[in-house]
Amino acid sequence: MPFIYDKKNAQCMWCKRTQNPHPDFSHETIPSKIFISKKGRRIELCFSCYENEIKSISKDIDFKEKLDKKFELLKVLNL
Ligand SMILES: [Zn+2]
Repeated sequence: MPFIYDKKNAQCMWCKRTQNPHPDFSHETIPSKIFISKKGRRIELCFSCYENEIKSISKDIDFKEKLDKKFELLKVLNL
């Protein structure tokens, strides 16, 4: 599952970062990847947010479903 490096207009939809967090690559945009949620939303995430999502997956809910839940939560909180 490759992440795209230095993608134009990259922005993580969870942490809102747009710049590469690594100091050597801070002139580049954040490495990100678009995931398609269960409801068909395009969710762009950076590597660390993706790792967090993967870590906290339980057997009751799958990754794509989690993306929708989190997206809807962020919308409600207006973040
Ligand atoms: Zn992020």
